[in-house]
Amino acid sequence: MSTAAIVPAAGSGVRLGADRPKALVLLAGEPLVVHALRALRDSEVVDRVVIAGPPDRLDELSAALPSAWSGWAQVIAGGAVRQASVAAGLESLSGDHELVLVHDAARALVPPAVVIRVVDALLAGAPAVIPVLPVSDTVKRLRDARVLETVDRTSLYAVQTPQGFRRDVLAEAHATTTESEATDDAGLVERAGGEVCVVDGAAEAFKITGPLDLALAEAVLSSRRH
Ligand code: C5P
Repeated sequence: MSTAAIVPAAGSGVRLGADRPKALVLLAGEPLVVHALRALRDSEVVDRVVIAGPPDRLDELSAALPSAWSGWAQVIAGGAVRQASVAAGLESLSGDHELVLVHDAARALVPPAVVIRVVDALLAGAPAVIPVLPVSDTVKRLRDARVLETVDRTSLYAVQTPQGFRRDVLAEAHATTTESEATDDAGLVERAGGEVCVVDGAAEAFKITGPLDLALAEAVLSSRRH
């Protein structure tokens, strides 16, 4: 079975306070999206990648990719919201790929082992797969700055990417939803009544959102080098 990956990378990165879109922010001298793609490449289970980038920075994005990836990675214009970027990626895929991963550029340091776990679960028959980590903080529900309740965290999990799908399942979920603010793709499958399976995520697959995350990512990379 052939597997393609869509990398939504068209976010502005406002929360990072950077002077450029988040996917192009440098981490150890390379844009975040290059790190994210390297993890997919190193997994050796991804046959093709489509990067949905900021429409006004596509040349810059293409130039940042190693030339050895030219037949493997393709840059397209992303949309105004994440879901539109993923939909654009889906539309651009050829008919060759039965399995599709969606991986946020912001999860730049996902270990290849997580990518492999997701694809293995798809190959074992799961229609949709997400990597998860148990929530370690105590979580409370608030309204108007007052605590309503403490939520039982034993059943709560934080969800990461790459999320994996049988292509028909993801295409159907995108086609049948009008929700434009979905924060992940498995959510669309759930809303369409589909089954979503889980595999173990990894702490290193954290999403780089703010400046502290960038500092943590630098530390992770340097620990991998030593
Ligand atoms: O904003 P957030 O961090 O949740 O974005 C998750 C991912 O979706 C990021 O990799 C970001 O670049 C991407 N995104 C996108 N198109 C948008 C908004 C976000 O591809 N319009």
